[in-house]
Amino acid sequence: MARVLITSAIPYINGIKHLGNLVGSQLPADLYARYMRARGNEVLFLCATDEHGTPAELAAAKANQPVEVFCAEMHKVQADIARGFRLSFDKFGRSSSPQNHRLTQHFAGRLDAAGLIAEVSEKQMYSKADGRFLPDRYIEGTCPNCGYDRARGDQCENCTKQLDPTDLINPRSAISGSTDLEVRETKHLYLRQKAMRQQLSDWIDSKTDWPILTTSIAKKWLNDGEGLQDRGITRDLYWGVPVKKGDQPWPGMEGKVFYVWFDAPIEYIACAKEWADERGALDAEWERWWRTDKGAEDVRYVQFMGKDNVPFHTLSFPATIIGSGEPWKLVDYIKSFNYLNYDGGQFSTSQGRGVFMDHALSILPPDYWRWWLLSHAPESADSEFTWENFQASVNKDLADVLGNFVSRVTKFCASKFTTEVPDGGTYGPAEEALITELTTRIRAYEEAMEAIEVRKAATELRAIWVAGNEYLQAAAPWTVFKTDPAQAAAIIRLALNLIRIYAVLSEPFIPDASDNMLAGMQTNNKTWPTDLRAALAVLPVGHAFTVPEVLFRKISDEERADWQQRFSGIRT
Ligand SMILES: [Zn+2]
Repeated sequence: MARVLITSAIPYINGIKHLGNLVGSQLPADLYARYMRARGNEVLFLCATDEHGTPAELAAAKANQPVEVFCAEMHKVQADIARGFRLSFDKFGRSSSPQNHRLTQHFAGRLDAAGLIAEVSEKQMYSKADGRFLPDRYIEGTCPNCGYDRARGDQCENCTKQLDPTDLINPRSAISGSTDLEVRETKHLYLRQKAMRQQLSDWIDSKTDWPILTTSIAKKWLNDGEGLQDRGITRDLYWGVPVKKGDQPWPGMEGKVFYVWFDAPIEYIACAKEWADERGALDAEWERWWRTDKGAEDVRYVQFMGKDNVPFHTLSFPATIIGSGEPWKLVDYIKSFNYLNYDGGQFSTSQGRGVFMDHALSILPPDYWRWWLLSHAPESADSEFTWENFQASVNKDLADVLGNFVSRVTKFCASKFTTEVPDGGTYGPAEEALITELTTRIRAYEEAMEAIEVRKAATELRAIWVAGNEYLQAAAPWTVFKTDPAQAAAIIRLALNLIRIYAVLSEPFIPDASDNMLAGMQTNNKTWPTDLRAALAVLPVGHAFTVPEVLFRKISDEERADWQQRFSGIRT
């Protein structure tokens, strides 16, 4: 038994995510976690909400709520939706947790002691009316490029020009609207990534088995232009982890917080402590996953993320861990994804274009989405969601192939024999050929799942379903029954056992359908079909079953057209 630590990139607290976000990290991470558990491994699967930073503060202000209340509510919304998609996190934590506050301050203290933090003086806008320094996004004014009068201090939304707050004409505070602003000197902390460039480069070079998408992005950031740069890790915000050196004050940094990108990945670790703390477990419980001096040396740590998150996970977070000089677990494998596009364009959170996670669950159960998204995961290139493709995939793979197999086998047996596994007959050449084919395909499926090749795994699983259907079609027990009922019984006995095997193999992709198939077969036996011949005898002669409800319904053309229309424009 292996021990596998799995983290999914943590979604930002501000708003509900779309299907492109889901398939870029949480969903494939869940697929892998479920598979690893099904194979008998010990798994710790962690995710959380990323709660700090300016967008959360601004969204809370817009919602007229204290930011703590806003984040608590949005965390609950995201946790409920995650459950709706059957994401099997062992803990869905919060980057605003006390555990993450302490750990973030601890890492900053360690990095400072190692000489890896620089204190840099900068000139920044101060608002006398608000009594605070203003981050770039908190300053609005007229764009010097296009004249748009609500340009932000970091960028003009209208013409997309990157701006400096001092470029703005008639700058004002986005909080109070005050124009009584002045430039003052202030101090910020920088993580000296440049000083760690060689260490990071050597570490990435040692990862010869990583996907090219992952290493090419990391190397670009390490080497392009002037190479890896130091990064500011503090901000003048209210909402965040107060700047401290461990548990000690940091002179000159009063009233400042760590920048969200510094504390967010540390939440991967803090989340494990949240998981242990909520059960009243000792620190040893979570440290055996994260500290190589306390049991984590045999843990395999796998991260899942979209490609935009790769720089943080290959450079910044490892710089924090390595720079601390403490034996924290570093990632062993990073699975990164390209983008999922939506119906001829892009998903857009700001424009509400595409299907969002809550809407998806309001029109169809999670398995329909899980199957399409995973079987079309944007691995080697971007992929595209279209309603036509979604309808075709659901109707064919799930309804016509898998659903139909389960329905035909159970209904035929119930009508011609009883609702018990029938006795009689023996396997012939057709059955032997099926066993040979399925054995080969199951091994290929296992290999793809081990390698986290998501689409390939889906292709093998579909082929496993198809093989059963084709066998049933060719063996034609409904015809054989007329002349040789015993032989028809042998065919159906095999097919009923195949339903249990399909349930076990399919569970990582479509957990609800898997549960329904097992319930129909009246068994809790989830033994993996390592030996297919033995697996085909798990449900013995006389074992009772029920005819399950329809596993998957078809999507009609009318529904497809309706949904296509409904999700084309502005999210409401
Ligand atoms: Zn502009």
